Amino acid sequence: MRIAVLKERADGETRVAIIPETVKKFTALGATIAVEAGAGEAASVSDQAYVDAGAGIGTAAEAVAGADIVLAVQAPAVELLQGANPGAWVAASFDPFGPRGRVDAYAMGGFEALAMEFMPRITRAQSMDILSSQSNLAGYKAVLAAADQYGRAFPMMMTAAGTITAARAFIMGVGVAGLQAIATARRLGAQVSATDVRSATKEQIQSLGAKPIFVEDVAGIEGEGSGGYATEMSEEYQKAQAELVSSHIAKQDIVITTALIPGRAAPRLISDSQIATMKPGSVIFDLAVAQGGNVEGSVPDQVVTRHGVKIMGFSNTPAHLPADASALFSRNLFNFLSAFWDTEAGKPVLDEEIGNAVRLTQGGKVVNERLLGSGE
Ligand code: NAD
Repeated sequence: MRIAVLKERADGETRVAIIPETVKKFTALGATIAVEAGAGEAASVSDQAYVDAGAGIGTAAEAVAGADIVLAVQAPAVELLQGANPGAWVAASFDPFGPRGRVDAYAMGGFEALAMEFMPRITRAQSMDILSSQSNLAGYKAVLAAADQYGRAFPMMMTAAGTITAARAFIMGVGVAGLQAIATARRLGAQVSATDVRSATKEQIQSLGAKPIFVEDVAGIEGEGSGGYATEMSEEYQKAQAELVSSHIAKQDIVITTALIPGRAAPRLISDSQIATMKPGSVIFDLAVAQGGNVEGSVPDQVVTRHGVKIMGFSNTPAHLPADASALFSRNLFNFLSAFWDTEAGKPVLDEEIGNAVRLTQGGKVVNERLLGSGE
């Protein structure tokens, strides 16, 4: 069983799909690991560290030659996989609802694409879930990046020269990233409030010491769909939410938006006219900027100033914490493949529940129900 890891080629991607710790763990299962030279550089992992852990180092072509499994953070272009074994697996993030060409190319190339974003939200798959591990770090980094742009301090400070008041931070969307954003803003000393369409988050917000801000009086407010994901809300709810946000947001210094709906553009949560009511110097960090944005006027990787308010968001937030993001991503991949390791066969054999959920292509065809059902 040969496992190959290539250097990531996407712009701004600093992560790597394997770290020396997981090289050792895969090797202990009997696998041979080949890593492209320089693959870990941006995540502070040297080639020597991989060699010391038991991996081979070579060019991309050398790493991929004879590979049974290729691991990547972002799925590589199919051309890079020439020389891998027929039917080789590629476990990576595939942006499955993005442009369809890449998935089709994997099918045509005869590869088995395993989209880590489609890991089901079931208890036994929690340790395999890249969306959770990367969102957690993203929520943390969003608060730090916003704090860095904010011209004031987060905590209340009583100094000889007078008192500085605590910043008010509002977190919109309380999934994995939002919960970490609440915790981080609290640790920095802000007064934190938060909102979500899923009423189950109310208790979670309170348990982190923040104030829940919720639309209470609209019928059918429960926005939880399958797998714990949010659903799109009714027009009535959206109107009530916009009114609530308008009155609350005007008093905020920091706003972090994290709202996503799988397979759809991110919901618009903050309009330009709402931004106009905010205090100059406030900062909005839009974690959904790469999915279309929760905030009107947000542009990936730019700080845009509107009405004196700074609006920002990164196209790839976890890539701003490459070492930890790579470590967690790599452990997710190891937890996934090792859970299915068949010691007799010397390779992983996926079960139906998880295999069917993550597998996009097999035997030359696109086989994933969520993609076939999307009508693309
Ligand atoms: P997500 O990234 O899909 O969305 C972020 C948050 O935005 C969600 O809480 C969502 O409800 C919210 N949102 C969507 N539309 C909104 C709107 N219009 N206004 C305000 N908020 C809106 O979510 P996520 O971080 O992936 O987590 C969603 C849930 O799934 C959480 O309860 C999480 O704990 C759970 N989860 C479970 C597992 C598992 O069991 N393996 C893994 C990951 C997450």
